[in-house]
Amino acid sequence: MTDQLSFKHSKHSELEELDKKHYLHPTTIPKTHAEQGPKLTFAEGEGIYVRDVNGEKYIDGLSMLWNVNLGHGQQELADVAKEQMSKLAFSSSFAGYSNEPAVRLAEKLASLAPGDLNSVFYTSGGSESNDTAFKLSRFYWTLKGKSEKTKIIGIKQAYHGVTIAAQTATSIPLFHDFSGSKISEVFHANPHLTNCERGDKSDPNYEGCIRDIVEKEGADTIAAVIIEPVQGSGGVHVPPEGYLEAVRDLCDEFGILFIADEVICGFGRTGTMFGVENWGVVPDLMSVAKGISSGYSQLGGVLIKESIRDVLVQYDQVLAHGFTYSGHPTACAVALKNIEILERDQIVANTKNMEYELRAGFEYLQDKHPTFTKSRAVGLLAGFELYADRDSGKPFDSTILPSAEVVEECFKRKLILRALSSNVGRNIVAIAPPLIINKQQIDDMINILDDSITVFEKKFC
Ligand code: PMP
Repeated sequence: MTDQLSFKHSKHSELEELDKKHYLHPTTIPKTHAEQGPKLTFAEGEGIYVRDVNGEKYIDGLSMLWNVNLGHGQQELADVAKEQMSKLAFSSSFAGYSNEPAVRLAEKLASLAPGDLNSVFYTSGGSESNDTAFKLSRFYWTLKGKSEKTKIIGIKQAYHGVTIAAQTATSIPLFHDFSGSKISEVFHANPHLTNCERGDKSDPNYEGCIRDIVEKEGADTIAAVIIEPVQGSGGVHVPPEGYLEAVRDLCDEFGILFIADEVICGFGRTGTMFGVENWGVVPDLMSVAKGISSGYSQLGGVLIKESIRDVLVQYDQVLAHGFTYSGHPTACAVALKNIEILERDQIVANTKNMEYELRAGFEYLQDKHPTFTKSRAVGLLAGFELYADRDSGKPFDSTILPSAEVVEECFKRKLILRALSSNVGRNIVAIAPPLIINKQQIDDMINILDDSITVFEKKFC
């Protein structure tokens, strides 16, 4: 036993040293990492749990990066990957080549997607999907003889990825500071102003809404609007009733394409197969990634509605866009199996049921903790906020990072969550466990949150 532990420890130390020396991590503070090494080195997982190299077990309360929807250690996904890899691990989709898993998945996506989003352009992830959606929008308008329609409107607090175009559409300041790379012609509207988007100019917030930007810039210069149905990394912001419908109407009124960024929301996360279904909205283009394969393979795509595809397929030269891994057979085989399991095991229904359990837990926390407020959950995309005085909305002193404190307390208790920022500071806690979670496990998460917020309130209130 002693040997075992010391073996694990030395293995961990060695990995830490190698990591510090050779591995530049994404969205991590390089200086801290180079000095201190990784916070934790994951080794294995099962269901909602992950273990690190020391054998410590954690609840994965954010499905890693909101993507491991079927949970860890799903053997059927591993099996199908092995089978496809043994048969044909990779093949090109360029120059007219095709493969069966990519075709079968395309058909499956068409059958699942709302409305007539019946074709797909494959990518390897969410950023590539959004860049592709922007390019396809501009290209579509060019083919329609409206090449001046190039501008993209996103909304504030959005996260759309980190490739240069997607990063420009992202509206979290942290991501804009990196390297100064941006494309031009991207605008950020004030979010979730339903009345303004419906055209109510007497609304004091009208200036800076999407409609206002369209009017000022001219609809004949705007290619597309991009929106996450529920904003994820920007703070788990749920649109008010009528908002997405109002934006859909606005896009129709002005001849602008509506891109739904379903990278987090898609494939059951919000208690419906796609996030937009919660509001009965059908976009023109839909970016997907993450949950399409539960993170077991790197895959994304843009779903395209028929009338756009009809225009694109008239083009008789090379569509000069594509990634080496577009239509990757192994990735597509894994995604097909992932969707099969989602449907077979009624995971979307479980997500909805577990949303109610999570909401009940939030009510308990709200009653008990004076700092806890603004909880929300659409399926298992959830969060809450912490305030010094929740009734007046007074935030904590800027030297305190309440959500980071609570998330750290949860981490000590073996629950991994994510701290996000609002416009009053770092005070949002995001929760998005694997969709296979059960009631007992939701209760375990709530109990850990309860203890963690208690410690936080003792320290800072
Ligand atoms: N869109 C949304 C809504 C996302 O949450 C993310 C990733 N968190 C992306 C796009 C980018 O996806 P990727 O990291 O796979 O490029």
